[in-house]
Amino acid sequence: MQYEAVIGLEIHAQLLTESKMFCGCPTKFGAEPNTQTCPVCVGLPGVLPVINKRAIEYVVKTGLALNCEITQYSRFARKNYFYPDLPKGYQISQYELPLCRGGYLEIALNGRRKKIRLTRIHLEEDAGKNIHEGGDYSLVDLNRAGVPLMEIVTEPDIRSAQEAAEFMRRLRMILRYLGVCDGNMEQGSLRCDANVSVRPAGQEGFGVKTEIKNMNSFKFIEKALEYEINRQIRLLSKGEKIVQETRLWDAKRGITESMRSKEEAHDYRYFPEPDLMPVEIDEGWLNEIRAQIVELPDARMERFIKEYNLPEDDARLLTEERAMADWFEEAVRLGGHPKTVANWMMGELLRLLNKDGIQIEDSKVKPAQLVGLLSLIDRDVISGKIAKTVFEEMYQTGREAEVIVKEKGLLQITDTEEIERIVEDILNNNPKEVERFRAGEQKLLGFFVGQVMKATKGKANPRIVNELLRKKLSA
Ligand code: ADP
Ligand code: ZN
Ligand code: MG
Repeated sequence: MQYEAVIGLEIHAQLLTESKMFCGCPTKFGAEPNTQTCPVCVGLPGVLPVINKRAIEYVVKTGLALNCEITQYSRFARKNYFYPDLPKGYQISQYELPLCRGGYLEIALNGRRKKIRLTRIHLEEDAGKNIHEGGDYSLVDLNRAGVPLMEIVTEPDIRSAQEAAEFMRRLRMILRYLGVCDGNMEQGSLRCDANVSVRPAGQEGFGVKTEIKNMNSFKFIEKALEYEINRQIRLLSKGEKIVQETRLWDAKRGITESMRSKEEAHDYRYFPEPDLMPVEIDEGWLNEIRAQIVELPDARMERFIKEYNLPEDDARLLTEERAMADWFEEAVRLGGHPKTVANWMMGELLRLLNKDGIQIEDSKVKPAQLVGLLSLIDRDVISGKIAKTVFEEMYQTGREAEVIVKEKGLLQITDTEEIERIVEDILNNNPKEVERFRAGEQKLLGFFVGQVMKATKGKANPRIVNELLRKKLSA
C-alpha cells in the first residue's frame, strides 16, 4: 500500500532584542551561567513583569511578512508547569489570543510552488537551561530564562521531509531578512519540533501523530523525518498501531526514540496573566511596523532578474542573505557591471569567505574596492589573471586594488614595443616549435602565449601578445 506523510511544524525563534521579554537583562548568548539574571527573570516573589515593546513589534513584523491576520487586541496567558529551569512555576505565553493568526509561507521544491498555511504565531518567554554534565547532579543556567521567544505553528500541510526542510530554510531566510532572529540553529536560537503522521494514500482523515524534538539542523530535520515516516509506515504495514508520543532524534544513531507518551502530557491550566495589561495595537502602530519591513528574498530575487538581467541561479544565490544582496547592489550602484560583480562575488569572494567561515558583513573587501579592481581590468591596467591574485590580497588585507598593483609592480604591460621584444626572444629561443607551427601545428600558439606570459609574469596584455605572435609567426 502507498502511504502519504502528514507533517506540521512548531518552530521556536529567539527574538533579536537587546533585553529580555519582561525585564532589562541582556540576551547575549554565551555569557557565564547566571550572570544575565535579575529578580524578575529568576522569579522572585513580588516582582512585576514589564512587556518589551520591541518583542511585540518583531512578532507583528513577522506576522505581516507571513501574511497573517494581526490580533489588534491580544493578551498574555500563564502556562503552568513545574520544571527546574522554570523558577516561577509558570511560563508567560499566549493562548486564546495570540498576536498573529492564519497566514502562509510559500515554498518551492523541484520547480513546484506550494503554500504552507500557518495556524498562529505567538509570543512567550524562554525557559532556562538544565545542564547535565554527568555525576549525580544537574546544573541550572537561567541566562536564557525570560528571553523573548516567538512560536510559529503550521497547519499539517507539509507532505515530505524535503518540504519540511525547505520550509525551515525559507523561514530562516525571512526571519534573518526581517532582522528578528539570527537563525542560529546550533546555538538554539531557531528550533523546530515536528508532528508527523502517515495515512494510506487517498485517505481523508489524518493518522495518529508523533512529535519529534531536538532537531538542530536542516540535515537533521530531513533525516529525522525520513526515519520517522518510514518507522510509522513499517508499523502500519505490519498491522500495528502508532502510539501518540513525543520522540527524540538521536543524531549519533540516526533514529528517533520514545521520550514520553501523551498520557503523561500536562494540563497547563492556562489563564490570563493577571500582572500584564492586554496588548492593543492600533492602526498607527501597525503602519509604523509595516513600514519597517524590508523587501523579502523572493521579491528581491525577481527584481534582481529583471533589473540587473541576472540568471535566476545567480539572483537566487545573491538574495539568500540580505547582507549579500546589499553588498551586490552597493557594488552595482558604484558602477560595477551587474553580471561581472555577480561572477566575482559567487566565484572568488564566496570561495574565500566560505573557506574561512567569515560572513560577508565582516569581509575586509568592500563593494567599492571590488569596483576599483574591476575598473583596473576594464582600463587594461591589469590582466584578468593578475586580478585574481590582487583580489586575494585585497581579501586578506582590505587594501585598495590600485595600491597593491603599484606596490607589487603588477601593472599590465601594454607597451607594444616591449612585448614585441619579448615575443621575438621567445621565437628565437624555440626554433623547432616555430617550424612545427609553420608546418601546420596551429595549436602551438598556446605554447608561445604561455611562454610570453611566463616571461612577463602574467603581466603582458593577452590581446597584444596574441596579435603579435600571429603576425610574427605568419611572416
Ligand atoms: P496537539 O493538541 O497535540 O498540540 P495541535 O492540533 O495543537 O496538536 O497541533 C500541533 C501541531 O501538530 C501543528 O503543527 C499541527 O499542524 C500538527 N498536526 C496536528 N495533527 C497532525 C497529524 N495528524 N499529523 C501531523 N501533524 C499534525
Ligand atoms: Zn532579568
Ligand atoms: Mg497544541
